[in-house]
Amino acid sequence: MSIYEEVEFEDLDYDPIKRIYTYPCPCGDKFSISLEELWDGEDIATCPSCTLRIEIIYDEEDLPPLPDNDDDESEENGESVTGEDERGDADDELAATTQKILTVQ
Ligand SMILES: [Zn+2]
Repeated sequence: MSIYEEVEFEDLDYDPIKRIYTYPCPCGDKFSISLEELWDGEDIATCPSCTLRIEIIYDEEDLPPLPDNDDDESEENGESVTGEDERGDADDELAATTQKILTVQ
């Protein structure tokens, strides 16, 4: 569970197609974290081939904007009550992440 290294956001490699940031892992694979996860406040990138992980040092203002999602219009119309099942799950996830951050700090 320990952090192998703290890595500046600007030192990461970015794959604009998959919107995933990577950083070379000493095992030969790459740590990876998605742009979406970064926007969610996640700052730990994991390696799929070993147990090492890195902490990304970044500010939200460093992040490129997420591509438009289909929530844009409903935001303008205020909160809609129906058809929000998926969003509800996302909110739960976000809440869990936020709680985790608060715990860490
Ligand atoms: Zn690795």
